[in-house]
Amino acid sequence: MPQLNENYLNIKQSYLFSEVARKTAAYQEANPDKPVIRLGIGDVTKPLASKVIDALHEGVDMLAHAETFKGYGPEQGYADTRASIADYYKRNGVDVDPDAIFISDGAKSDTGNITDIFGHDNTILIPDPVYPVYVDTNIMCGNYNIVYIDGNAENGFLPMPNFEQHADIIYLCSPNNPTGAAYNKEQLEIWVDYALKNDAVILFDSAYEAFISDPELPRSIYAIEGAKKCAIEFCSLSKTAGFTGTRCGYTVVPKELVFTASNGTEMSLNAMWNRRQSTKFNGTSYIVQHGAKVVFTEEGIAACSENIEYYKKNAKYIADTMTKLGINFYGGINSPYIWFECPNGMEAWECFDYLLENIQVVGTPGAGFGENGKNYFRLTAFGTYENTVEAMARFEKLFS
Ligand SMILES: *Cc1c(COP(=O)(O)O)cnc(C)c1O
Repeated sequence: MPQLNENYLNIKQSYLFSEVARKTAAYQEANPDKPVIRLGIGDVTKPLASKVIDALHEGVDMLAHAETFKGYGPEQGYADTRASIADYYKRNGVDVDPDAIFISDGAKSDTGNITDIFGHDNTILIPDPVYPVYVDTNIMCGNYNIVYIDGNAENGFLPMPNFEQHADIIYLCSPNNPTGAAYNKEQLEIWVDYALKNDAVILFDSAYEAFISDPELPRSIYAIEGAKKCAIEFCSLSKTAGFTGTRCGYTVVPKELVFTASNGTEMSLNAMWNRRQSTKFNGTSYIVQHGAKVVFTEEGIAACSENIEYYKKNAKYIADTMTKLGINFYGGINSPYIWFECPNGMEAWECFDYLLENIQVVGTPGAGFGENGKNYFRLTAFGTYENTVEAMARFEKLFS
């Protein structure tokens, strides 16, 4: 009998989305005449921009001819797609070396796989609440030295470092899933300063950077001086371009990230990640990378931003309703998420039942994202405008 990775025994079971689906289905079955509106969706709903569809078709056609056929590509991604991403960074005011960019099938894989290049005795800071992948992937490989950093009403769900507490690895997600809160430049400067003082690495998830329109909020950790010496950045086309089903992401591992091993050898994280990817990954499909290359052109970004603007209009509608009703909330401006405090002191699951039974609006209980979410609730902007308006009309009736 094989010895198993018993760390899996220690991963918390997440009943979040299955429980939401179960309760919603049971309610619908019992009340078939009451239409339910789903604002819990954590996935995009609008089709890909036609420019991107054209590029994907073109990619397929290239595979049909011997002269343009592609087999295995470079594990790091095609040079022109990486150059297109570097160009996008540049237009946003950040210089990134194309050799530091690794193209993948998404940010979930990369944020999860990055544990491969670190040891198991690190002190790891992880925000609470946050995207559950960071905690679960560390537990899976036996990294138990996790220190949760609290997001709460006092810090606007933007935890800051405690300089008395040492850390080796720091996960940050901004704009945050689930809270929608985004760090400003001064706050990220403090995090970079903290990381440099601790010789730590920041793992910065910027999956929602395309939702940032406030020029005061950095869209990349590399907008902060010194960040290339202490940060890896993960990003994705999922929310930027609607690639949740198409699958493409990218990770930036600057060559400046060099640390000394216990035997005195200098180890480059860029070289290690390259080795890791070349060993365990054979690259993202040529077709998808051909589409991705077009996403990051000026015209591509303009086309994709039409969908983002549509979602942001929904987000603003929800945020404005919360303001009108005097409900405390976070996000909703530079993010597709609205994270509100459950009214009347309700707990998250109690709030879920209350909304389902009284106004047939389904969202996501904050308790599923960490301890600090136990009195909060997440709504998303990924529904249709019409449904969003109708859901908010129901909120107004219930809470005013
Ligand atoms: C959606 C999301 C991602 C993107 O994951 P993909 O695998 O690229 O689809 C990454 N991080 C967070 C926090 C997300 O919410």
